[in-house]
Amino acid sequence: KKVAVIIGTRPEAIKMAPVIHALKAEENIQTTVISTGQHKELLDHVTKLFDIEVDHSLDIMRSNQTLAGITSKVVSMLDDLFQKERYDLILVHGDTTTAMGGALAGFYNKIKVGHVEAGLRTNDIYAPFPEEVNRKIISSIAYKNYAPTINSQENLLSENIDKSKIKITGNTVIDALFYVLERVESGGISIGEDILSLVENNEKKYLLVTGHRRENFGEGFISICSALRQLALNNSELEIIYPVHLNPNVKKVVHKHLSDLENVHLIPPLDYSSFIFLMSKSFIILTDSGGVQEEAPSLGIPVLVMREKTERPEAVTSGTVKIVGTNTDLIIKEVQNLLSNKRYYAAMSEKLNPYGDGKASKRIIEDILKFDF
Ligand code: UDP
Repeated sequence: KKVAVIIGTRPEAIKMAPVIHALKAEENIQTTVISTGQHKELLDHVTKLFDIEVDHSLDIMRSNQTLAGITSKVVSMLDDLFQKERYDLILVHGDTTTAMGGALAGFYNKIKVGHVEAGLRTNDIYAPFPEEVNRKIISSIAYKNYAPTINSQENLLSENIDKSKIKITGNTVIDALFYVLERVESGGISIGEDILSLVENNEKKYLLVTGHRRENFGEGFISICSALRQLALNNSELEIIYPVHLNPNVKKVVHKHLSDLENVHLIPPLDYSSFIFLMSKSFIILTDSGGVQEEAPSLGIPVLVMREKTERPEAVTSGTVKIVGTNTDLIIKEVQNLLSNKRYYAAMSEKLNPYGDGKASKRIIEDILKFDF
């Protein structure tokens, strides 16, 4: 049977890598990897790290392209490919324009669509924008929804998706995280001197920051920077490490507000293994990323989420993640609490991970093998 895995952005590549490995281990499945190139620079690192060969590389990105422009390119270019190669199943991941456009092109070509990381919802179509709507569109098309948690299954059931079309698997990001951690620990992957030197001082407490969500562009990032500025100036033991996303809406603001501070390290986005290593050495993580919220509980690092709503409530419930939005005062208050209150810190650094056990991709492949193609 012919299965195509579609990726386009960094998180999709990370979270699909273990699925691709598991598919490739199956003799009866012919696996093809298609990349739309939505985040080409960030994606290449990941495919190299996981030793994944991209069979079809589409080049959809043009400068200043609108969301509709990206969507139409994804749909039409994948449609061309699907007409030539008859796949039995395509797998898309999460909530990107690549995933939504890929699912739609698959649907138009009457190809079964499997959705990995299905059922995450905020129930607000503008947060995250446009991801929430992308997710809903994919769920309505998918032949099978691989929901990471019970909560995500419930979201799908409440949208009248039949239970037979859902399987709870855990999140494949934990599979990817364990794969990389094992290799870093065994010396199979070496971490560069530049990264090691960022976290070499045991007297310091490291605050790792990432941010890229569209809904935080403008005012949001300005208030985040203002909080980081005050935190850096008021805490001499604090070192802020911030791999800055390449999007100019993020990069320009962050560099303008923070580049003059000695204990703020603005660095380019990191390859996945370096990022995981820095995460494991951090005292606190401040992020608007989805994947980071899922990974950090396995490492026992408290996460403050710079979003107003989350489609990942599980770790908030279990206590290792807190929602702070982009409110300057709230970010400062929570970071200060974690820095000064040991009890508060201990409660947030439990190594409980509600998102998975590292076996999600195995469960997905076992399910695919049962399909009646
Ligand atoms: N990540 C990375 N390098 C970085 C920042 C993040 O490899 O500099 C990883 C992170 O560990 C997670 C994924 O990228 O697995 C998250 O991607 P992103 O924050 O871009 O997207 P989201 O998860 O919000 O969709």
